[in-house]
Amino acid sequence: MSDVYEADVVVVGAGLGGLSSARHLQEAGHSVVVVEGHSKPGGYAHFFRWEGFRFEVALHALDGLGPGGWARRNFETLDILDRVEFNRLDPFYTVRFPDFEVTVPGDLAGYLDEIGRVFPEELSGAKELFAEIERVAHDLSAYGRDRAAGDRVPIHEMPARYPHMAAAFGSSWSDFLGRFIKSEEARALLSTLWGYLGLPPSRLSAGLMAMTLHSYHTGGAWYPTGGSGTMSWKIVEAIEERGGVVLLRNEVRGIDLSDPLGVKVTTSRGIEVRAKAVISNASPRSTLDLIEGPPVDDAWARDVGSEAPALSSMVVHLALDRDVAAEGWDHHEFFDMVSYDLEAEYEAVLEGRFEDVSMIVSNYTVVDPSCAPPGGSVLALTVLAPWDYRDVWGTGGDRTNYRVNQGYIDVKQQAGEILIERAEAFIPGLRDSILEMRIGTPLTNARYVRQPSGSLYGREQTVMSQMNRRGPRTPMENVFLAGAWVGGGGMTPAIDSGRTAARAAARYLGSVSA
Ligand SMILES: Cc1cc2nc3c(=O)[nH]c(=O)nc-3n(C[C@H](O)[C@H](O)[C@H](O)COP(=O)(O)OP(=O)(O)OC[C@H]3O[C@@H](n4cnc5c(N)ncnc54)[C@H](O)[C@@H]3O)c2cc1C
Repeated sequence: MSDVYEADVVVVGAGLGGLSSARHLQEAGHSVVVVEGHSKPGGYAHFFRWEGFRFEVALHALDGLGPGGWARRNFETLDILDRVEFNRLDPFYTVRFPDFEVTVPGDLAGYLDEIGRVFPEELSGAKELFAEIERVAHDLSAYGRDRAAGDRVPIHEMPARYPHMAAAFGSSWSDFLGRFIKSEEARALLSTLWGYLGLPPSRLSAGLMAMTLHSYHTGGAWYPTGGSGTMSWKIVEAIEERGGVVLLRNEVRGIDLSDPLGVKVTTSRGIEVRAKAVISNASPRSTLDLIEGPPVDDAWARDVGSEAPALSSMVVHLALDRDVAAEGWDHHEFFDMVSYDLEAEYEAVLEGRFEDVSMIVSNYTVVDPSCAPPGGSVLALTVLAPWDYRDVWGTGGDRTNYRVNQGYIDVKQQAGEILIERAEAFIPGLRDSILEMRIGTPLTNARYVRQPSGSLYGREQTVMSQMNRRGPRTPMENVFLAGAWVGGGGMTPAIDSGRTAARAAARYLGSVSA
C-alpha cells in the first residue's frame, strides 16, 4: 500500500495526549492526521475483551473533569461530556493498613472526618494541610492566568508572586507533609495515592502530590461507563466528524525534517503524511530516534536521553464467575497497604518483592456493571513494578517473541500468583472463581504503547523534574511534544498536554502563514 495524506499537522500517536492535541488543533481551525501504531486508539486509555468480559488496561480514577475542575474545559473541547457517561466515585477508595481501615468518601469534608476518626490528634494538622493545598491551587491558577495574559514571571520572582506554589514545588512531599502531620501512620494514610504518581514521599514533588489530592478530593474521582477505551473511541469519533483522519495500525518509522517548510512522516504500512508541523505523543527519546534530516541540537538530545522513566506496573486482570460486589466486596478501589514505611516499600518495588508492596484491588463491576455478564465480575490487581525484574522478566533481555518465551511466561505467572494469593485473603475462594486471567507486565506496556521501560507516567515526577518541566516545544520549530512525558503522568495531565502542544503548534502555523 502506498498512500499519501496531507494536513496542517500530523500527530504521531493516538494516546490521550495525541488525540487531545488533534481535537484542540481542529478547534483552532487546522486540519489533522493522527497516526497510531496500535489497532486501538487511546494508548493506555483502552480496554480488551474476553468472552462477555471487558478489561480496563489502566484507568482507576480520572480527575479534573467535574464541574469547576481544572481540566473541565479540555473535556468540553474533546466533545465527550455528552458522548460518555462519567460516574463519580463515592466512596473514592478504601485503604487498609496493618492497624486500621479507612473508607474515603468522595468529598473533602468526609475525608477529613475519617482522618479525625482514626487520628483525632492529627485532625487540626490535616485541616491546615488542606488549607495550604488550597492556597497552592490558588497560586497555580493565578500563575496560569498570568502566563496566558503574557505576564512571564522570572524564576527568581516566583517565591514573591506565588509563595505557596513556589514552596510546594520546591519541596518533597515528605518535607511538606511533615510540616502538618506528626505520626508516621497518619502520614502514610495521607500518602496513600503515592502509587498514582510513582515515587515515594522523599522523592515525590510536593506540588504535584498537593494538586493531585486537591483535584481528586475537591473535584471528584470519576470513571467512564464503558471504560477509558470508550472515551478514546469517542474522541476519535469527534475528530473524524470534523474531517480529521485517524490511521490505526500504522507505526511511524520516520519523521523527516529535511524540507525546512514541511514534515514528512512515514509508517510501517508505507503511508506518507505531509504536514507543516508534527506533534509527537511518543516519548521524547522515541521521537528523537524517529527524526531524520538535519542534525538535532546536541544539548536537547542529551537532555532527552538523560530523563529517567517513571516506574512501570504489573496488573493481574481477572474475569470471575461470581459477583463479588453482591457478596459484599463492593470497592471500586481498595488499597492493601503493607506498612507505614513507604520509603522501604519503594525499595521493595525496585527489587520486585511483590509480597511487600502496596497492591490495589479494583472491582470494575461496582462502578460499571457493563464490564461483566450478570453474575460475574472483573477485577484488577495492580502493583508498581520495575522494568529490570529477574533479568527483565525472564527474557534475558531478548524481547523477540517474548510472549511465547517460557522464561517470561513462568516469571510473570509466578509474580501474578503472589498477588492472587494476597487477594485471596480479602476475597476467599477467589482462585476457584477465576474464568480467565491475563497478566500485564512492563513488557506489555512497552509493546502496546511503546513507552520506554513500560513507564506509567512519562518521566520520574521528582521535585527537580516538576520544577523544570519540559514544555511542548523542541529546538526544531515545527516539532512539538504531547503526553505524560511533558504534561505529567495521568490521563487528565496527558489530555492537558495535548492542549498546550496544540496551542504552540497553532502559533507556529500562524507565524509561517503570516
Ligand atoms: C496500570 C496503569 C494504571 C493507571 N492508572 C491511572 C489512573 O487511574 N488515572 C490516571 O489518570 N492515569 C492512570 N495511569 C496513567 C495514564 O494512563 C498515562 O499517564 C496516560 O494515559 C499517558 O498518556 P499519553 O498520551 O502520554 O501516552 P500513551 O497512553 O502511552 O500513548 C502514546 C501512544 O503513542 C503511540 N506511539 C508511540 N510511538 C509511536 C510510533 N512510532 N508510531 C505510532 N504510534 C506511536 C503508542 O502506541 C500510544 O498509543 C495508569 C497507567 C497504567 C499503565
